[in-house]
Amino acid sequence: MLNKPIYLDCQATTPMDERVYEAMKPYFCDRFGNPGSPHQYGWETAAAIKQARNLIAEAINASSEEILFTSGATEANNLAIKGVAEAYLNKGKHIITVTTEHSAVLSPCQYLESLGFEITYLPVQTNGLLDLDQLEKAIKPTTILVSVMAANNEIGVIQPLKEIGAICRQHQVLFHTDAAQAISKIPLDVNDLQIDLMSLTAHKIYGPKGIGALYVRQQGQKVRLATQLHGGGQEQNLRSGTLAVPQIIGFAKALELGIQAMETENQRLLQLRNQLWQSLESLPGIHLNGDFQHRLAGNLNFSIEGVDISSLLAALTPKIALSSGSACASASRKPSHVLQALGRDRQLALNSLRLGIGRFNTQQEIDFVVEQLPVVINSLRKANHWQPLVIKRN
Ligand SMILES: *Cc1c(COP(=O)(O)O)cnc(C)c1O
Repeated sequence: MLNKPIYLDCQATTPMDERVYEAMKPYFCDRFGNPGSPHQYGWETAAAIKQARNLIAEAINASSEEILFTSGATEANNLAIKGVAEAYLNKGKHIITVTTEHSAVLSPCQYLESLGFEITYLPVQTNGLLDLDQLEKAIKPTTILVSVMAANNEIGVIQPLKEIGAICRQHQVLFHTDAAQAISKIPLDVNDLQIDLMSLTAHKIYGPKGIGALYVRQQGQKVRLATQLHGGGQEQNLRSGTLAVPQIIGFAKALELGIQAMETENQRLLQLRNQLWQSLESLPGIHLNGDFQHRLAGNLNFSIEGVDISSLLAALTPKIALSSGSACASASRKPSHVLQALGRDRQLALNSLRLGIGRFNTQQEIDFVVEQLPVVINSLRKANHWQPLVIKRN
């Protein structure tokens, strides 16, 4: 019936949409010009970049000069955090972020800490959401930046961006959000949400790998940034390097498709996700990680008592491809810092599954998973002589 594993790891990356591939194709061999070149070849790619930039800007209610292309969300996060830290040294050296952020936010913050910056890592509530009172209390006169992700890459929870934006604006602190998982899945209007900097990437939304963008507010209170990548002066001298034309065209196409389909796709994913969860929820000793309501439609993350997660993943191979957490952490077999931040003990944090359902998953595939997953969990538990605790933990 199936020759390739069912892909359920859409928080790690997504397959590229064929329509994105078609849009990119002419820009490899035929329209190959450097968009900075003063001739026909350069003009045609420059025009295509302009159109792509406009499309991306419009999708988040920004203007085109507020979009800087980067190699992805990792680079966008680094540029936002280090770029602001360096540009606002005269205001202060305090940055606020959250313990459940992606390593592409946490690591730049730790690096800045080593240079003498002060970083506050706010905890989250047991549902994964930030406590807004704690955020407000953490802001000091020396605070220059608050960085809170839009949607979490492990547990899919969506932070209260509008409320965070309002608090930051009120205290005149810049608000950066890593929206790698959220773009084209929830509406992201940078003015409505009062976002000053926002990181995006294409490969989580059925676009190519190696391309992303940083939105940098220029309307109203302008954000200043210190250049992190010096060179030929592209992207307003803030991010040098010849623009990756095919990837940028693909990124814009992916975003266009994602936003067009957002509502209907979210309904479809929600229905598949809920079907999956219903089949698992009925088993004992299964604990949902992260808030169920404020969550990406295609995401599930839960801890399973009485199984060893690597045995579970092995038992599902080669039929189903999923992972236990972030792609970066999977190799290390360390318990997820996100699940530990929710208060999960080490064992439950280790024995967690992340299911990322996406555009190309079919009803038939989810039916198959619903049939298989509980059976595999039960048989591993049986082999481990596992018995459910009488007191239900949560
Ligand atoms: C995937 C991801 C990143 C890294 O993006 P790249 O484009 O792969 O560098 C950063 N933050 C979040 C939340 C992500 O999901």
